[in-house]
Amino acid sequence: MKRESVKSFPSFVIVRGGTQIMPLKSDREILENSMHEDDPNCNSSLEPGFIEKTAPRWGPQNKGAQELANLYSPGKRAQELICVYTCIALMIIDFILILKHLRFDRICVTFVSAFFGIITADFGSGLVHWAADTWGSIDLPILGKHFLRPFREHHLDPTSITRHDFIETNGDNFMVSIPMLGYLAYNFNTKSYSDIQQDFGWISYLFLLSIFVAMTNQIHKWSHTYWGLPKWVLLLQSYHVILPRKHHRIHHVAPHETYFCITTGWLNWPLEKFR
Ligand SMILES: [Zn+2]
Ligand SMILES: [Zn+2]
Repeated sequence: MKRESVKSFPSFVIVRGGTQIMPLKSDREILENSMHEDDPNCNSSLEPGFIEKTAPRWGPQNKGAQELANLYSPGKRAQELICVYTCIALMIIDFILILKHLRFDRICVTFVSAFFGIITADFGSGLVHWAADTWGSIDLPILGKHFLRPFREHHLDPTSITRHDFIETNGDNFMVSIPMLGYLAYNFNTKSYSDIQQDFGWISYLFLLSIFVAMTNQIHKWSHTYWGLPKWVLLLQSYHVILPRKHHRIHHVAPHETYFCITTGWLNWPLEKFR
């Protein structure tokens, strides 16, 4: 089997005050320390025997990953089902009400607010992900099993997310968006037309924030999916509208200490720079 040689060059450089400090991760470091998701036959392996050396460390065969996956309970599944259906219903209702109230002279405010909604979702994804990766353990009551478990499982078996169905992938994130979408639906039904027009920037901000918070784990799943992605998802990834695959792989280099934002990943570079 032909093995491609891998050049070692910095994929990212931290620059402070015009001074080049150090490469964050070289392509070689990323290859050596993360799981081969796009290359199951290891054609891009660094040297013969590399796959044999690394194979037991990650993936579905990892004992820790198997134990964590077994903690997924029927009660958790029921909670996710309720959250996904409630959230989708609210998304549809709010979207129809936004279209009904959208005025051409508000387009600029709508787009700027929506953009900041997406930025906030990306920041939130990084903050929650950082906290879940670094704080507590899965032995903590309620939080450990239901909230921290998927994050810990994901590091041991990054491709497990690609085997989760839509409900398991998105249940928790859809739950977080329900209060925001519910608040918007309540406002549309209780406020006057002029009050809604006045608050339209805030409404657009909250709506896009809710949509991107809800979609974060689906976008994250796509960043680990190397086969069968729809063309429009590949297009959004290639233009970095959503989290690109190569960009997210930097987080999957042990000890998983950087690039925590997983919605669009837009804030990873500035947050790394100011760390
Ligand atoms: Zn992580
Ligand atoms: Zn990941």
